[in-house]
Amino acid sequence: MNFVQELVNPIKKVNLLDFDRKGLIAFFVGLGEKPFRATQLMKWIYQEDVYDFNEMSNLSKTLRAYLSENCVIETPEIVVEQIASDGTIKWAMQTHCGNRIESVFIPEDDRNTLCISSQIGCALACTFCSTAQQGFNRNLAASEIIGQLFVAQNRVGKDRRITNVVMMGMGEPLLNFDNVVASCNLMMDDFAYGLSKRRVTISSSGVVPAIEKLGEACDVSLAISLHAVRDELRDELVPINKKYPLTMLMDACRENAKIAPRRFITFEYVMLDGINDTIEDAKGLIKLLKTVPCKLNLIPFNPFPNSSYRCSNKETLLKFKTLLNDAGIITTVRKTRGEDIDAACGQLVGQVADKSRRHLKLKIAT
Ligand code: SAH
Repeated sequence: MNFVQELVNPIKKVNLLDFDRKGLIAFFVGLGEKPFRATQLMKWIYQEDVYDFNEMSNLSKTLRAYLSENCVIETPEIVVEQIASDGTIKWAMQTHCGNRIESVFIPEDDRNTLCISSQIGCALACTFCSTAQQGFNRNLAASEIIGQLFVAQNRVGKDRRITNVVMMGMGEPLLNFDNVVASCNLMMDDFAYGLSKRRVTISSSGVVPAIEKLGEACDVSLAISLHAVRDELRDELVPINKKYPLTMLMDACRENAKIAPRRFITFEYVMLDGINDTIEDAKGLIKLLKTVPCKLNLIPFNPFPNSSYRCSNKETLLKFKTLLNDAGIITTVRKTRGEDIDAACGQLVGQVADKSRRHLKLKIAT
């Protein structure tokens, strides 16, 4: 893409999209420059769409020459674009190492949401998620995370401003903590994208130590993929539960909600026919969620090849929703978008050179 500067030497050059404002200040101070260079540079990149250092007229000639020689502004590149009948757009973006990640643009009447990836593949093996079947390659750099927003916004144009970002694509964001925090900071920084903290959401399967750290590090909204109210079932559906069981998870959520008062946590609950959708499950959910300021988002299960689950039927789903709402828990059902191009929750797969050797392990185990 012509707005992305060519990467001449990927080893030595510094990608300036890897830094949030704090990181850029440290970078410039390290060069003997004044801290305000950080905001000057951010304005050029994120507000003026200027990516050629030589055109950054308020930087000194020497600094421009230094940046041209030693730095790049590099993002992943769109290699495939698919547009669904409902207007949802899915992009496969290629990273410099050749793997592909996926991002999804979801236009609605009152907002435009971008769903982005935080890792190449995922290491967590949730049984109902197709990303999990791909195995894991590596964490994305901050430039590759913010790069998805950068590329998507340039692609859809300024008249379709992206207003919301959800980290619900490929990967577990809280297992890539520093890079996810840096990119969220950029999303919310007025010198970059200036999104409100209510409009940037990290979705996690429940990495408890990271949830505990998150409240202090970054003031974003938090969504938790709950999916079960009994440890025995959650151990199976979301295996990280074996390490951080429900009591620990709910304690961490309560703490997070305290750090950010007036804030609520969104719990996500995928509806799996005959697995987690009984009246007992609904009652368990009410009991569990009563203790945290929260909203509940029920997600109809989206199938993918070789998945053994089915989505709960419409009647069960509505009954479940009514029970929860009647108990005072604000409950919504997630609208499935981009189904005809496999862009819905849990359907993002990209192209991942698996380093986790999960396929090998599965083969040995069977
Ligand atoms: N790892 C993070 C974010 C990625 S998944 C997390 O677990 O939250 C984003 C959401 O989609 C999660 O709530 C996830 O549980 C849900 N999801 C995954 N596979 C799904 C599927 N096949 N159908 C519906 N939702 C799914």
